Amino acid sequence: MQRVGIPQGLFYHYYYPLWKTFFEDLGAEVVCSGPTNRATVEQGIAAAVDESCFPVKVYFGHVQKLCALGLDYIFLPRLVSVEPRSYICPKFMGVPDMIKAAIPNLPTVIDMIVDMSKNNKIFDQEVVRVGNYFTRDRLAIKRAYQHGIDEQKKCEQICLSGYSTTEAIALWEGEQMDLPPRYDLQIGVLGHGYSLYDQTISMNLVQRLRNMGCRVFFTEGCDHIKIEHAAATMPKRVFWTLGRKNVGAALYFSQQEQIDGIIYLACFGCGPDSMIGDLIERKIKDKPFMMVTVDEHTGEAGMVTRLEAFCDMLRRRRYAGSDSNLAPHGEYVYRPAGVNERSATGICNSSADQ
Ligand code: SF4
Repeated sequence: MQRVGIPQGLFYHYYYPLWKTFFEDLGAEVVCSGPTNRATVEQGIAAAVDESCFPVKVYFGHVQKLCALGLDYIFLPRLVSVEPRSYICPKFMGVPDMIKAAIPNLPTVIDMIVDMSKNNKIFDQEVVRVGNYFTRDRLAIKRAYQHGIDEQKKCEQICLSGYSTTEAIALWEGEQMDLPPRYDLQIGVLGHGYSLYDQTISMNLVQRLRNMGCRVFFTEGCDHIKIEHAAATMPKRVFWTLGRKNVGAALYFSQQEQIDGIIYLACFGCGPDSMIGDLIERKIKDKPFMMVTVDEHTGEAGMVTRLEAFCDMLRRRRYAGSDSNLAPHGEYVYRPAGVNERSATGICNSSADQ
């Protein structure tokens, strides 16, 4: 059986179920590089050009991990656009070329162009071209792709229950996982999925917030149409797909009464983040907002301190009854025991609240 490697970085966090199903239906075995760890980061930094953003460097590390496994193929799609009139960050376009130039001894690269900005016909031809690595049966290739789309939709449904895309992929693959039942804060978190949902890149931001008593809301867990409507209120259309979703989600979260605060995870060296993060910061007027920037040098202690300070500020703000974005001084961080309503104690049960 031929083996195809898929790096667990960048597009993985959005489209893994689709491509895993596609290749498996065509008779291949899919090998994923697994979660990012410190060794992946170090390998990626050593191989990537300095100007790359952190997630791209990490992607290099995943590719190297796969190279050591003696695979037949490695899947490195060139994402240009995944919807009409919108684009993915240009670094996605260059990644396959950067990797071919920097990493020797790659398995055969399946380099496919995903560009839905013009018409789907060229994309359909690309799907058939990729399928031809495994079979000449066009019908089987089309069926495999359609099956992949169906599985992708199942995974997106799981996200609507409050899981990140990466958690949804794990659930889709059969893992068991439960969301924490109790929380006293509700926080909208934003960022690119491949950095926000990667535990090493984000310094485990999502789980840390949950451990601090927060229920976390993601862009993918919100109604897609509401997010697009919110994003459409911008004077100019944001033409980066992920950037527009982040702007839309930020505006949507800011209108939700139950959301206590919003956190944006940005990556150092990211062009779109430098603009989108700033744009969101200016637009969010009614909710506490924090932007956290990470890179390969970010320390865990700094991240923990910022998250704890943000949560403490939100609790002070709620219990002091302040409408301002400033943390009031001299008020309770925690409400005295014995008061049960969420508006006072903030404690509620997620299953009852959903
Ligand atoms: S959007 Fe930013 S983080 Fe993502 S690939 Fe582009 S530069 Fe890197």
